[in-house]
Amino acid sequence: MGQEGEDQQTEEAPSFQRLGVCEQLCEACAALSWKQPTRIQVETLPLALEGRDLIGLAQTGSGKTGAFALPIIQDLLDHPQPLFACVLSPTRELAIQIAEQFEALGSGIGLKCTVVVGGVDMMAQAIALAKRPHIVVGTPGRLVDHLTNTKGFSLRSIKYLVLDEADRLLSMDFEHEIDEILKVVPKERRTYLFSATMTSKVAKLQRACLKNPAKVEVSSKYTTVDTLKQQYMFVPAKSKDCALVYLLHELAGSTSMVFTRTCECTRKVAMILRNLGLDAIPINGQMSQPKRLGALNKFKAGERSILICTDVASRGLDIPSVDVVINYDIPMNSKDYIHRVGRTARAGRSGRAISIVTQYDIELYQRIEKLIEKKLPSFPALEDEMMLLAERVAEAQRLATMKIRERDAKGKKRRATDPDEDDHGDAKRSLSGKKKGKIFSR
Ligand code: AMP
Repeated sequence: MGQEGEDQQTEEAPSFQRLGVCEQLCEACAALSWKQPTRIQVETLPLALEGRDLIGLAQTGSGKTGAFALPIIQDLLDHPQPLFACVLSPTRELAIQIAEQFEALGSGIGLKCTVVVGGVDMMAQAIALAKRPHIVVGTPGRLVDHLTNTKGFSLRSIKYLVLDEADRLLSMDFEHEIDEILKVVPKERRTYLFSATMTSKVAKLQRACLKNPAKVEVSSKYTTVDTLKQQYMFVPAKSKDCALVYLLHELAGSTSMVFTRTCECTRKVAMILRNLGLDAIPINGQMSQPKRLGALNKFKAGERSILICTDVASRGLDIPSVDVVINYDIPMNSKDYIHRVGRTARAGRSGRAISIVTQYDIELYQRIEKLIEKKLPSFPALEDEMMLLAERVAEAQRLATMKIRERDAKGKKRRATDPDEDDHGDAKRSLSGKKKGKIFSR
């Protein structure tokens, strides 16, 4: 914890105490090694502690969770009651991370927080809700499910509603669920809305649920940091896998996140890489929640050095350090490029982002260059060396396709994205039996 927030800090930020944070919570911040507030915290804390509604335009990594959690917990200390605040998050992972921050900040004061997200047993969550936690963090769909089906659970007494990553909540079509939730929360409440971008939908939501809000924005421009080395690699579409394997070999020893466009593709790419002896693990929105967390934890713990993911993982995930981001597929939405590459080069450290561009991606890629106002250099690839891989990669592709077909034919439940299945299989039966970095026989 702490690394993402640090790069958002200002040189002469006032202390948490000077911003009005009470002593107990200042101590909690210190215990988390939050030495000084981040920019978004500097801007929002005094306003929030005054009791204002807030719109915070800030990205994950800015310290925005602290910006809304601290004033909520401070008010809770003065007015203790169960079901004090409800936080809506677009993804399960983000919900868990938000809850972790609430729990970390509130650990000294017995704060209870419950996460209600899809993919996890409803009954266990209903039991947790019956214990009347102070804070409920959830994804809108599951929360509405509980509001409808869990006896005794309601949000009628909450004092705070937080809509985190509102732009994503809306782009993921949670409008209906948000409407349902707004109908059952008290009108007299504080509302905090955080979003990376101010879209027209977010503006509409803001009008519907905030009262005279204070607006705070940190870094609205779509920039990438100077410590990030960005490059592209132009290859024919049919050589994409070769290019990826080549890059991973060139960057051996690094931790990498490889972004693909579809869930299916994360599986296939991970399988191909594993067939070649590389320690890749997929994570995507089709995986069950325990599988997603399992994959993430293996990556975080360093047991796997290559995470293959969809954009689900480009925002919101608290992954401390990634050396390299590879865009295996160019994102359809240019802003996703910024979120993806934001997974590296944090807190003043260096990082690399390499985009594999094919004949079909030129327009999308040019849009990205326009957005970041930079013309990027190409990755100095040695084509001959890359082509040496072609045969082995083709064989790995063939095996992966065969395996996927076999699984689909069997219609096994677990086929969706069981990363461990591959762990025990492909990695051990890798084509060459060679370890990472030994793909070239030179
Ligand atoms: P967030 O943008 O809320 O997802 O926060 C990103 C990361 O920054 C989390 O790991 C937080 O623990 C960390 N963080 C939040 N506030 C601070 C702070 N004032 N100083 C250092 N780290 C922080």
